[in-house]
Amino acid sequence: MVQAAERKQQIGLLGGTFDPVHNGHLAVAGYVLQALGLDAVWFIPAALPPHKDGHADGRDISAFAHRLAMLQAAVAEIKSFVVSDIEAKRSTPSYSIDTIEIMLPQVGDQADLLFIIGADAFLEIDTWKRYRELPTLVSFVIISRPNYSPEAIGKIISENFTGYQYDHSSETWSSPNSNGSFILQHMEPVLISSTDIRERVRKGKDINGLVPPAVADYIRTHGLYK
Ligand code: ATP
Ligand code: MG
Repeated sequence: MVQAAERKQQIGLLGGTFDPVHNGHLAVAGYVLQALGLDAVWFIPAALPPHKDGHADGRDISAFAHRLAMLQAAVAEIKSFVVSDIEAKRSTPSYSIDTIEIMLPQVGDQADLLFIIGADAFLEIDTWKRYRELPTLVSFVIISRPNYSPEAIGKIISENFTGYQYDHSSETWSSPNSNGSFILQHMEPVLISSTDIRERVRKGKDINGLVPPAVADYIRTHGLYK
């Protein structure tokens, strides 16, 4: 009897500082889940974000436990969204390559991992640890952001990764030498940032509609961003 080949799970990874998680993050995850037919999106808060000693706005990054708890509250009722605390279990800074190298053997041949990233963050990829190896391990899903053109993304790819060719119809760069591709996805911009939310809370302004209600409650209860 011929057995139906089991379909590999497709898992999106969304890393970030998530200080706090907001509706923009949830919109990105939901959009990619739908658009690429993923089985799940794993949110991966960074324990010690390598690019940030503190936030760009000069403020300290909230404790990992707070950022994790807000994520858990945000996704509690969304079955396909999962929060991973993998980066808390290390004492070293959380570089994406390390996280991916830990996750790959865990999922084995059961799943493909797709690294979801905003175009703003992708344009700085050449500052990441061992970044040239990343697309040999995972595919990238690059989310368009206002003010970041596909040309700028293409330039970064051609300057840093060899053998990649662009396919117009799928808006995907792929290479015969590499498993991973770079997939560009356009979504309606959601103009929300954690920086803006922290600033609003500090000024006593409303954040309804910017974060899920459970996250707003958490921020209030724990007096974050004051
Ligand atoms: P901060 O303002 O502190 O930089 P942030 O809102 O950018 O925070 P991060 O935790 O830095 O949030 O973002 C994690 C990931 O989510 C990054 O890949 C980033 O590009 C993406 N992202 C954040 N906000 C949005 C948004 N509104 N729309 C699309 N992608 C987003
Ligand atoms: Mg950011």
